[in-house]
Amino acid sequence: GLRAELVAVGTELLLGQIVDTHSAYLSRFLSDIGIDVFYHTAVGDNQARLQDVIRAAHSRSDLVIFTGGLGPTEDDLTKEAVSAVLGLDLVEHPPSVKALEELFIERGLDVPASNYKQALVFPQGTVFPNPNGTAPGVAVTHDGTTFVLLPGPPVELYPMVENEVRPFLEALLPTKEVLLSHVLRFYGIGESHLVKKVEPLIQHQSNPTIAPLAKEGEVTLRLTAKAADHKQAWNLIQPVKAEIVKQVGHYLYGVNDDTLEVVAIRALSEKRQTVALAESCTGGLIARMLTAIPGASNVFRGGFVSYSDDAKQKWLHVSSEVLASAGAISEAAARSMAEGAMAQLDADWGVSVTGVAGPDPAEGKPVGLVFLGIAAKEGKTTVHRLSLRGSREKIQIRAAKHALFILQE
Ligand code: ATP
Ligand code: MG
Repeated sequence: GLRAELVAVGTELLLGQIVDTHSAYLSRFLSDIGIDVFYHTAVGDNQARLQDVIRAAHSRSDLVIFTGGLGPTEDDLTKEAVSAVLGLDLVEHPPSVKALEELFIERGLDVPASNYKQALVFPQGTVFPNPNGTAPGVAVTHDGTTFVLLPGPPVELYPMVENEVRPFLEALLPTKEVLLSHVLRFYGIGESHLVKKVEPLIQHQSNPTIAPLAKEGEVTLRLTAKAADHKQAWNLIQPVKAEIVKQVGHYLYGVNDDTLEVVAIRALSEKRQTVALAESCTGGLIARMLTAIPGASNVFRGGFVSYSDDAKQKWLHVSSEVLASAGAISEAAARSMAEGAMAQLDADWGVSVTGVAGPDPAEGKPVGLVFLGIAAKEGKTTVHRLSLRGSREKIQIRAAKHALFILQE
């Protein structure tokens, strides 16, 4: 940020006749607009010492604000000292001359000759009009340091700071940029596969940047845009998101903090539909994930942890023929379980999971083989056959997530 310092000019300050409240005021003001102040100096109405202070400030600060010493008398030296140190001429500023003359005419007086020096300004600089007094404020930038000279009387200083200096300094500040991130959440597609599908976008990324991340069987793309404000940042993100959705929207289930369970519950709530579960190899994990979310009661009717063949038969009416011929880990069993759960709990959807979580094969079937049944009150039952990899726990989690992914579609 900008390194600023303040210089209070006036021998009264050094004599202790007045207290330097201007520097306290200006320090608060500058900190409010994000400018750091590193020095306060008080200096008397003395040309040589004032010039020393200006040289020091010039060498170490980006912004120097002076108060006082803009008056008409011989001992008002601030402008002259800055002019001498920087080697910058002062020239008459016609609008300030006019303002000065009008002010005296109003009071029925002639302009004293000494007052005309108050209308001298730096031609390459900025002039802050002073409706409350005779001295305009001036500002000039030289060798990377901006000097701002303001009148001492509080009735002149305060309004000038608020009305003139504030916008002047805000324009000096580097424009603030915001970063906006938008996370796209995918399920059912591997990271490398997804990256390949959006390859051209990733290769040409700049603003927004696109960062892929794989975690717990899910893949995310984080789009991060830099702009002047959130609205502009979103306008940069939005078309890139639309292009990604065009390529891989089928796998997109949510954004930002969404989880599969939140999205599944939201989707069912919106349709005012309910679901019942028949879980074998996930052992109640899907029920646990759903019930962790407030609002689950609107959509979750209940579930069966139908782990044994007996439980599948007694609670869900999976037939002994199916269990004997296809086995409990089969498309037919998954179908029956999903339909059984839906019927028992009078739900709109029945979801079943039966499979081999491992570590050993079962029924002569490989670890990771999972059947996921989806029964629909209004429609046909479908069964997804999954081949999942990983530990027993990973297989259970992935089976559960897959079920939730299907539920939110
Ligand atoms: P003038 O035209 O009145 O001479 P000026 O710009 O030369 O204005 P000064 O003469 O330094 O300003 O100060 C005018 C009055 O403003 C002082 O008498 C004092 O009351 C007040 N003042 C100046 N500097 C400060 C300060 N740093 N803190 C508080 N009050 C101040
Ligand atoms: Mg003075």
